[in-house]
Amino acid sequence: MNCCTQLAVGLGALLICGCADQPTELHRQRIYAMGTWVDLSIRAADATDAQSLFGEIEVVLSAFEKDYYAWVPGQLAELNDAIHAGEPALVTSPLAALIVEAQRLSALSEGFFEPGLGALVELWGFHSSVQNPQLPPSADEISAHLDAGTKIASLRIDGQRIESSSRGLMLDLGGIAKGAAVDTIISLLLERGIEHALVNAGGDLRVIGRSGGRQDERRWQVGIQHPREIGLLGIVELQSGEAAFTSGDYERFYDRNGTRLHHIIDPQTGYPVTHTQAVTVIATNGVTADAAATALFVAGPGRWRHVARLLDIDYVLRVDASGELELTAPMRDRLRPADGVDSDIISPPDEDGAD
Ligand code: AMP
Ligand code: MG
Repeated sequence: MNCCTQLAVGLGALLICGCADQPTELHRQRIYAMGTWVDLSIRAADATDAQSLFGEIEVVLSAFEKDYYAWVPGQLAELNDAIHAGEPALVTSPLAALIVEAQRLSALSEGFFEPGLGALVELWGFHSSVQNPQLPPSADEISAHLDAGTKIASLRIDGQRIESSSRGLMLDLGGIAKGAAVDTIISLLLERGIEHALVNAGGDLRVIGRSGGRQDERRWQVGIQHPREIGLLGIVELQSGEAAFTSGDYERFYDRNGTRLHHIIDPQTGYPVTHTQAVTVIATNGVTADAAATALFVAGPGRWRHVARLLDIDYVLRVDASGELELTAPMRDRLRPADGVDSDIISPPDEDGAD
């Protein structure tokens, strides 16, 4: 029984479920971080509290940009340097915990999610957020990188001490870091007493509470981007705590002789995946949703349902290379046509984040 049903039962239930909502205003802020706009929508009683929270979140996001991205000086770059030198490195406990989780999800996904392939991502030129059209690497270069070692499984992690037997390994947390950042922001908001919020990192998002700000008001409605058109594939309503993440071939790509070369790499072949345009998943946290979207994108036809079961993901929408939609039954029940339904996601032209 949820709070709403309890409300119908009587005042006693209202007190027991502790949902004595105080009036709140929706406050919005837009911060550019991790190569995308991060749109924050939070319900707070006080505008000054909201502004100070936005300041704290900006600091969190800057730390993620520096320490969880392999190609700028920071913790992850230092770890990769140590691996290259064949030495152990000490990292902070949140980064160690994320790497442990990345290793676990990689194994669980049968290696389709593989954060050890940073050197291949760099070889293809997809480490830079600046569009960087260039000649694709040669087959020899790709197999040399595969041979040098691209598996996060080779890491030995002892608390905050990490080392690898594979000196060619380069960690790239690009497939999971946004999920970790969104989860960290949601935890911070909960610690500060915020009950209703949407944290949207360029369409990868997580919510708490409801958009209306009261237990009896509507839930957050979020749109799923069409991979080839400006517009939405549909809208889903999210329960408090849920995350919806999408991996798409439209995020970072260049075209070469009619083939789209993009940033999601098949760890078996070393080449960008060609069978999928986009995968959206809903999960109970950002880290799982982010890793799962990437894993299912790579797993492709015939295997994505199996990998979804391994990762315990019920809600999946896949768009294949020809634009056909495939959905799990629970996702089919939740996805509604976009027409006429308000999405709580701020549309891109709304640069200032104003209401
Ligand atoms: P996402 O948009 O979450 O699917 O993440 C894509 C990013 O993850 C890429 O830009 C790469 O940095 C990295 N990546 C590419 N292929 C993989 C893969 N198979 N497994 C894990 N991370 C990957
Ligand atoms: Mg991902």
